[in-house]
Amino acid sequence: MTTVIPLPAPVLLPVVNSEQTFPVRRVYCVGRNYAAHAIEMGHDPDREPPFFFQKNPDNLVHGADFPYPPLSTDVHHEVELVIALKHGGDAIDAADALDCVYGYAVGIDFTRRDLQAQAKAAGKPWAAAKAFEHSAPVSEIVPAQVIGHPTDGNIWLKINGETKQQGDLNQMIWKIPEIIAELSKLFTLAAGDIIMTGTPSGVGPVARGDAVSCGIDGVATLTVTVV
Ligand code: MN
Repeated sequence: MTTVIPLPAPVLLPVVNSEQTFPVRRVYCVGRNYAAHAIEMGHDPDREPPFFFQKNPDNLVHGADFPYPPLSTDVHHEVELVIALKHGGDAIDAADALDCVYGYAVGIDFTRRDLQAQAKAAGKPWAAAKAFEHSAPVSEIVPAQVIGHPTDGNIWLKINGETKQQGDLNQMIWKIPEIIAELSKLFTLAAGDIIMTGTPSGVGPVARGDAVSCGIDGVATLTVTVV
């Protein structure tokens, strides 16, 4: 069977110390998962049900420059723990959720904050603020078989060597098993799905020429240059 147009290229993320890659199916993101970030964005940090938005699979890029996107003058960095799934399902029990995890990475949820603020004010969707080209640089994926399932650890981001974001995974309002369980109530999860788990406080703008480095202790580090 042939296709009427060329098959789109698969999105393949590198796996640390491996010749094999991780194929991406969908990308989900958690909003406001650290109290200090919810407060800095003007929201109540109470434990409301998590909410989700999406990026496009091909927004995930590894080891590339970050091209400053058009139609924004206020692009912000958000460093996040990234979950990569090897299994999925519907209504997954939190007690079983970690069995679905292939591994973890560190990533940046780049956000056109000005477009997001306009969308919020108008009650419109966030897609243009979140799901633009190159908007999700990610590190190599580290298998859970190697590092286990992180519950705490420093998560940080620096611009040109200066610390901008610093938090700890233990500050996540919704923990990894709970995020998978909640997400699987709404969507059928499957192997290849990626979940970005929210950002600690300290988000702010980037500029062309900035070297943005970030990491999660015990997981991975990542550096991108804004061009
Ligand atoms: Mn985010």
